Amino acid sequence: MTGIEALIPAELLSLMAENRVPHAVALESSDKAALSECALYLAQWAVCKSGKRPCGECAACKKLKSGNHPDVYTAKTEGKKNAVKISEIRNICADSVLMPNESDCKVYIIPEADKMEPSPQNAFLKLMEEPPQPMLFILLCENTQGLLQTIRSRCSVFKLKAEGGKSEQAQSLAEDIAKALCQSKEIKLVYACAALNDRQSALDALNALSELVRAATAYGITGTLGGENPLIRELSMNVKRRGLINMQQSISTAAEQIRKNVGLSLVGAVLAVNLRYNKYM
Ligand SMILES: [Zn+2]
Repeated sequence: MTGIEALIPAELLSLMAENRVPHAVALESSDKAALSECALYLAQWAVCKSGKRPCGECAACKKLKSGNHPDVYTAKTEGKKNAVKISEIRNICADSVLMPNESDCKVYIIPEADKMEPSPQNAFLKLMEEPPQPMLFILLCENTQGLLQTIRSRCSVFKLKAEGGKSEQAQSLAEDIAKALCQSKEIKLVYACAALNDRQSALDALNALSELVRAATAYGITGTLGGENPLIRELSMNVKRRGLINMQQSISTAAEQIRKNVGLSLVGAVLAVNLRYNKYM
């Protein structure tokens, strides 16, 4: 496995191997360098001419690596938010009707896709819904919740793995806490919060927990968002909306205490009490 493959979720790797990558893929990560690397890897997969894609060796792969492949286009970002503007989406729409030069499909990479204003997102949505020919759209996002729901529901979302499995560890700590919150036994919640035993991974876990709570809140309102994860559904059913909102406060308080070097065992204990108390608010 190459360095990049270690960042790509197994599900996407197997879709690539089976030639079943959907035409719109949203990659999510807080690591921008990893996002662009993975986007290029996926683009390379799309244009590579060898039997085992991407080979990294053929003319198409080499052209792409040097930034000269005519059928792969990365949208330009600009302005304060450093996002893709509607004029650029219009350029892409105009280009999309032209046949590819060398490969079987055209590839468009949209950086900072979650930072786009609603009007470029809507213009892009139209292209995504009715591409004039085979295309691969790769949307790069820090957080796919920033995409319009209409776009998000038409993309396959893949979260990149953090190096060294750090994000998986944070995610599993966060999920343990969320699971304990859905149950009535206090001791499980206390143990789950006590597992926060190193500052950086505790902060990562709190971030992941905050994401879960945010998704559960959204699910409670829309009945759809985030519903693919059973834990999010469970959380939204077990905790009132007001409680979920208050939990965000407890989570940010805990993060603030960690940054101020308060002892982790105290932070964990206070967090457990606050989360439990908020559940019934
Ligand atoms: Zn190749």
